[in-house]
Amino acid sequence: MRKKVCIIHTGGTIGMQKTAQGYAPQKGSINASIAEIKELSSEEMPYYDLIDYDPLLDSSKISIKEWVKIAHDIEERYHEYDGFVILHGTDTMAYTASALSFMLDGLDKPVIITGSQIPLCEIRNDARDNLIAALLIAAESQIPEVCLYFGNKLFRGNRATKISSDELIAFDSPNYPPLAEAGVRIEINKKELRKKGQKLDVKMFQNQQIAVLKIFPGIQFEVFENIVTDHLGGIVFEAFGVGNIPESDSLIRILRKAEKNGTVIVVCTQCLRGSVSIGTYEASSMLVESGAVSGYDMTVEAAVAKLYYLLSQGYQIEKVKKLMQTDLRGELS
Ligand code: ASP
Repeated sequence: MRKKVCIIHTGGTIGMQKTAQGYAPQKGSINASIAEIKELSSEEMPYYDLIDYDPLLDSSKISIKEWVKIAHDIEERYHEYDGFVILHGTDTMAYTASALSFMLDGLDKPVIITGSQIPLCEIRNDARDNLIAALLIAAESQIPEVCLYFGNKLFRGNRATKISSDELIAFDSPNYPPLAEAGVRIEINKKELRKKGQKLDVKMFQNQQIAVLKIFPGIQFEVFENIVTDHLGGIVFEAFGVGNIPESDSLIRILRKAEKNGTVIVVCTQCLRGSVSIGTYEASSMLVESGAVSGYDMTVEAAVAKLYYLLSQGYQIEKVKKLMQTDLRGELS
């Protein structure tokens, strides 16, 4: 029997049209572009329904509100479809994929997020291939995960990161192997997949104040001292190497203030590959002393989404810190 997939179109280049101000989403236009793809009516393809969001967004505008809407829409239709394809802009696709991986607890079918660097309306594009492969993969019952498909590879959503602003291989998963590769055939890397969940349990996010601070040589932490208020739930530090940060009095003041206010500090690395382990060098000892936690090999996108998730559950700070360092959805090794 032909499978059934629900496509949720949130915006992004894939469905954009040329306008005088540059590429922009246009309500309804993706229906016509998709209808022109003859392959989609082939018996080998799943049936699909399309939900076109209004407004359609450039993904730079996507935030908690849209993540909640996507999660709601999947939950509402969960039993009607074999899988879901989310069409999304590439700029924040890895954040949305990470967020959905935490929201869709207990998933037992595929949720595949994809988009393109060149829109469907152009003769030469990567949109058509990405869409066709994402639909085929979303009809595969053996992938019970939120994934990101791009440039012939399927990645675990919360392991993916955008690596190029203008190449067709725009994403990678530096710390986890691809879950599938689309060559002559679509080969699924079964041993890397997560186990099927028992029952979908959607965990909603609320708005949370968090910050991401990239460390750089010469950083004057006093510039950032005022961001640490008692409303700030968490900070992701993008540190050097395995978690090193140049010590200074103002950094110590930030760490003390964060500790006093109950702000969780998570340390990720600026390196594309590898893991953080604070305390390895003296240059991270003040982080350990102040109760900061290692983000290990999590991407910054996953760490941000996980902070939103854990802070939204209303857990005590010690529990947030513990879970931040625990593998919940395959986001850390
Ligand atoms: N600015 C676009 C977006 O993220 C880029 C893309 O889709 O490739 O919505």
